[in-house]
Amino acid sequence: MPGLGLRVTQEEEAFPGGPRVLVTGATGLLGRAVCREFHISGWSVVGTGYRRARPHLLRCDLTDEDAIRGLLHEHQPDVIVHCAAERRPDVVDRHTEAAVNLNVHATSTLAKEAAVSGALFIYISTDYVFDGRNPPYGEDDSPNPLNLYGRSKLEGERETLRHCPGAVVLRVPVLFGEVESLTESVVTNLWLKVEAAEGCTLDHCRQRFPTDARDVAAVCRKLAERAKEDPSIRGIFHFSGKEQMTNYEMALAIAHAFNLPSNHLIPLTEQSPGSALRPVNAQLNCTRLELLNLSVEPRPFSSAITDCLWPFTPDKRWRQTVFH
Ligand code: NAP
Repeated sequence: MPGLGLRVTQEEEAFPGGPRVLVTGATGLLGRAVCREFHISGWSVVGTGYRRARPHLLRCDLTDEDAIRGLLHEHQPDVIVHCAAERRPDVVDRHTEAAVNLNVHATSTLAKEAAVSGALFIYISTDYVFDGRNPPYGEDDSPNPLNLYGRSKLEGERETLRHCPGAVVLRVPVLFGEVESLTESVVTNLWLKVEAAEGCTLDHCRQRFPTDARDVAAVCRKLAERAKEDPSIRGIFHFSGKEQMTNYEMALAIAHAFNLPSNHLIPLTEQSPGSALRPVNAQLNCTRLELLNLSVEPRPFSSAITDCLWPFTPDKRWRQTVFH
């Protein structure tokens, strides 16, 4: 999307003198929001990407152990927020070795290096570590991932805490945010169905908790800042939006927010065959963050999704409703 790439680039400029954060996956949906959040809070931000790396972002293949060591040696971050991952379950099924190299082995190397350097390591994980049969899930509940993606992320969590016991694991559910293309998030991708002229089917059996990447970024920043003064900030945390919706219900909410028709949207109450299995309801109980006053109030879905989708509306009339 024109404009968004430039905005990220500007915010990657170092902030001399502030504490230093290294953000992996800075070209991705969450990594961009994390870079922005730390930058506006006075941190010096170094972001890494891979295929989409552009000026002011470092290109680093995290599956190359020497490249990781060189990166950390050069930048000596106080905090590492590890967002890079292959997060599409069907791609993990098709390209398992590459996904495991990134989701597990790269995480393991980063955690080892963080432990050696003393940097706080924040590993972003997923509600897909749970099977979704007995929600809500607390931080100490036993994971049981249904698909390879969930298994690889759980393995990443275990490598993180094994090699870097002072690390933070932050599990989050389905994310949306400012996207460069609608397909970057399954939530923004629903716009294509809302806009379609003909009947469209949408999943109406899996309960989801769409969460704004900006809210997750704010939680990462709060965790990083608190951890500097409180060594008990370590281990597993959950953060989630509070509104429970199926994909069908999200599409209805989007149609309603943009005053568009929704009678062409058809709810599907069975999982589509052929795709990777997904949990029916992996609701996260976020008590630990809340008790420590480290949570943020999630933005309401209808206004947050409007912020994200207005650039894709034909007449851009929603621009006037967005505050930055
Ligand atoms: P994303 O938009 O798909 O971004 C993935 C990032 O990983 C990109 O910056 C990509 O860089 C980078 N990457 C891919 N291969 C790499 C490699 N070999 N070396 C270095 N970097 C590489 O992901 P996201 O949605 O922001 O997800 C962020 C985190 O949240 C992930 O850990 C994911 O598991 C977790 N999560 C996401 C969701 C969700 O709905 N999106 C839900 C729950 C949890 P290039 O694009 O430049 O190649």
